[in-house]
Amino acid sequence: MDAFHSTFHAQEVLFGAGAVARLGELCARDGYRRVMLCTTAHSRARGYVAPIEAALGEHLLVTYEHVLPHVPELQVAEAAALAAEHQVDAIIGLGGGSSIGTAKAVSRAWEARRRKSPAQAQAQHAHVPSPIDQPLVPVIAIPTTYAGSEMTPVYGITYSANGPARKVTTTDPQAVPRLTIYDPRLTLDLPPPMTAGTGINAVAHCIEALYSITRNPLSTAAALAGLRAIARTLPRCYAAGDDLEARAEMLVGAFLAGTALASVAMGLHHGLCHVLGGTTGAAHGDANSVMLPHVMRFNLEATASQIAPAAEAMGLAAAGLRPDVAAALVAHQVAEWVEQMRLPRRVREIGVREEQLPELSALAFASRTVQNNPKPVDSAEQIEALLRAAW
Ligand code: NAD
Repeated sequence: MDAFHSTFHAQEVLFGAGAVARLGELCARDGYRRVMLCTTAHSRARGYVAPIEAALGEHLLVTYEHVLPHVPELQVAEAAALAAEHQVDAIIGLGGGSSIGTAKAVSRAWEARRRKSPAQAQAQHAHVPSPIDQPLVPVIAIPTTYAGSEMTPVYGITYSANGPARKVTTTDPQAVPRLTIYDPRLTLDLPPPMTAGTGINAVAHCIEALYSITRNPLSTAAALAGLRAIARTLPRCYAAGDDLEARAEMLVGAFLAGTALASVAMGLHHGLCHVLGGTTGAAHGDANSVMLPHVMRFNLEATASQIAPAAEAMGLAAAGLRPDVAAALVAHQVAEWVEQMRLPRRVREIGVREEQLPELSALAFASRTVQNNPKPVDSAEQIEALLRAAW
């Protein structure tokens, strides 16, 4: 048995078709009277905002509908100014990982602003952050994709001033959503490309959790159970988005993938995808689809024994196979899903220019996440070779 040191967060999770109807009751129970909603215009157009307005009534003080992919700093500043103006006491992120990430970033920015009085600043200075700190301005997450941010203490903000755009990710226990409401009905019209791309993002959480250098028994169990659910349902959700039973099981898969991700360090794949998305604007699901099979093969020699059990979980005929052969089967299956769901397979298809590859490789090499990869990444050139293989 390997030793481990992990942090698990206090979160309330509500799961079920129609679960979002309980939002008003839960906010009233917790005394949230000045609530902000962060989302996109898409969510309103799809009818997801109206029930939240109805549930919260006068307690929904402000809605910020300008969330953009990869959480640009400008949007965080705009939304944080609104949070301050309305003195909000809870922030809902409704939508994909970008809406939930924006809600987390705004919660942290607004809280920092509230502490600006000298006495509070001094108290904050004296406070040594603990991994189980609770937020003062809680986030409520209502996901409509499979990206998994609703379960994690991580958020990224993309900074564009002074040089190329850079996405900076922060792990902060006070950013963990206090309440997550999973309602599979909100995923019924997730379009096939978004279903596929955010589904592969959930697969990536499970894969990198399995071989994480900080894996623990719970992250491993969640990752394998997540892959089992995803393998059974992702192709079904892609083929028939209105299949509520498949959507519900796939959302369970996303919950398990997010749970696995929440307590471990990610590796090369996640670090590289953050750089690709933050600097070039590539959609997160697209970057995941292109890179995951390549990174899995790159890591295979160091991770086969951790990945091999995924073969059985994914329903592949792996009984009696050597771990490296079973792990290669898993990588092959991921590549097949990418192809079958018509996701991009080459870096050149996701809006990256060839002349950007050296700079992207250097940024990725400097990333802490990449340095946490189970197989050591020794140079930016090694990453560039990987990107060129996927070019
Ligand atoms: P996204 O949030 O950027 O959304 C992409 C598009 O999908 C948007 O236009 C959105 O309006 C639309 N959309 C969302 N739900 C929909 C629905 N049900 N129906 C129709 N359209 C819908 O995409 P994403 O892949 O969910 O999130 C990616 C972002 O989340 C990235 O910034 C990534 O870094 C971050 N992320 C963070 C974590 C974490 O742990 N913090 C985990 C995964 C991803």
